[in-house]
Amino acid sequence: MSLNADWMQRDLAVLWHPCTQMKDHERLPLIPIRRGEGVWLEDFDGKRYLDAVSSWWVNVFGHANPRINARIKAQVDQLEHVMLAGFSHRPVIELSERLVAITPPGLERVFYADNGSSGIEVALKMSFHYWRNGGRTEKKRFVTLTNSYHGETVAAMSVGDVALFTDTYKPLLLDTLKVPSPDCYLRPEGVSWEEHSRTLFAHMEQTLAEHHGEIAAVIVEPLIQGAGGMRMYHPIYLRLLREACDRHGVHLILDEIAVGFGRTGTMFACEQAGIAPDFLVLSKALTGGYLPMAAVLTTDDVYQAFYADYATLRAFLHSHTYTGNPLACAAALATLDIFRDDEVIEKNKALAARMAQATEHLKDHPQVAEVRQTGMALAIEMVQDKPSKTPYPWQERRGLAVYRHALSRGALLRPLGSVVYFLPPYVITPEQIDFLAEVATEGIDFATRSAVSVAMPAGAPAEFRDPG
Ligand SMILES: *Cc1c(COP(=O)(O)O)cnc(C)c1O
Repeated sequence: MSLNADWMQRDLAVLWHPCTQMKDHERLPLIPIRRGEGVWLEDFDGKRYLDAVSSWWVNVFGHANPRINARIKAQVDQLEHVMLAGFSHRPVIELSERLVAITPPGLERVFYADNGSSGIEVALKMSFHYWRNGGRTEKKRFVTLTNSYHGETVAAMSVGDVALFTDTYKPLLLDTLKVPSPDCYLRPEGVSWEEHSRTLFAHMEQTLAEHHGEIAAVIVEPLIQGAGGMRMYHPIYLRLLREACDRHGVHLILDEIAVGFGRTGTMFACEQAGIAPDFLVLSKALTGGYLPMAAVLTTDDVYQAFYADYATLRAFLHSHTYTGNPLACAAALATLDIFRDDEVIEKNKALAARMAQATEHLKDHPQVAEVRQTGMALAIEMVQDKPSKTPYPWQERRGLAVYRHALSRGALLRPLGSVVYFLPPYVITPEQIDFLAEVATEGIDFATRSAVSVAMPAGAPAEFRDPG
């Protein structure tokens, strides 16, 4: 038996994997990874995979990056962890200073959590609590966009709208106000991204005008709705939203968990709109993809609403055990050093242009409705019918065919439904981008020919069963 097969068998005997129907693994191989280096992941049989999705959007400077490794190794010999209530340490202080310095003006305080969803919970609770501390107990609802994703905990799911992840749990969720997304994929023919996003803002304006008295905050993913299929919109929407939130006395929470740290072409997506939120939630690439951590930045105004004598009971008594973990902070500091020293945002422009160039031909593919891009995120929307943008039935799992083909060619492309996307580490080379485009093209051709369902009945015609 190969080493891969041996580890796979041991894994499937005891593990339950995230975001997975485990029965799929009766036929879909699970890939045990032995080591990583740069953009490559290597399995136990020595096969290598180019990590085109940055291991779920976290890894920006490659696997086993020597500079990040060194910083974590040095930190672990000094202090691995200390509770952050009543105590502090150098990495968390330095990281907070640097986050305040590089984020938009007005964000002056940093609160930590230990994953993205928990960071969202912090922002939602803080906003609600801010209004409550000011006697505005009626401000307890949140406004969110359709097709948004903010994480998996119950309140984070409540402000999300990807049916696949939330529908089952509806009876548990908070009552939120949902506004149509400014997503430009379905804009009418001949209408620009800017016009479309601006037009869609009317729904937001109306909701805020009608309900501002009971709204604590609006929460959005700026510029890219990630888990919702890498749907994109124009920065004008954020500008209008900031202005309207101010006018209606409502907080703005920006979830930059996926888009922060250069993904959209600027360090933070909100820079492209020239705005600052009341709460900025960061995670994923914050630690270079090494360790789980989230940071919630907020304003002095919010901070002061909680600052009072203990007996007033205004304090934010929220905590996560691993808040501000020193090893995670060390990884984040090393990551920020690389951004600064290597002028990453500037250099990414050439890589983003190469991504566009390498996928240009897919725009004419009969089964591709759109190739869209914002900075270092590029998405290819596969459809059953191009003129009408009719999606493939989800049961056909066309994206899975692309995934399997890519694995066979040594690339990790993990489509979201029928959306194939590249969200590569920034250490990818132009030649590697060309390779990914080639693999994606083959994968899309392959998916076009074969609907895949690992759950297809045994009697299904051969071309509908698993590809080899
Ligand atoms: C991944 C993600 C989250 C959730 O972060 P976790 O660390 O997985 O809990 C929230 N919002 C966005 C936009 C994300 O992409």
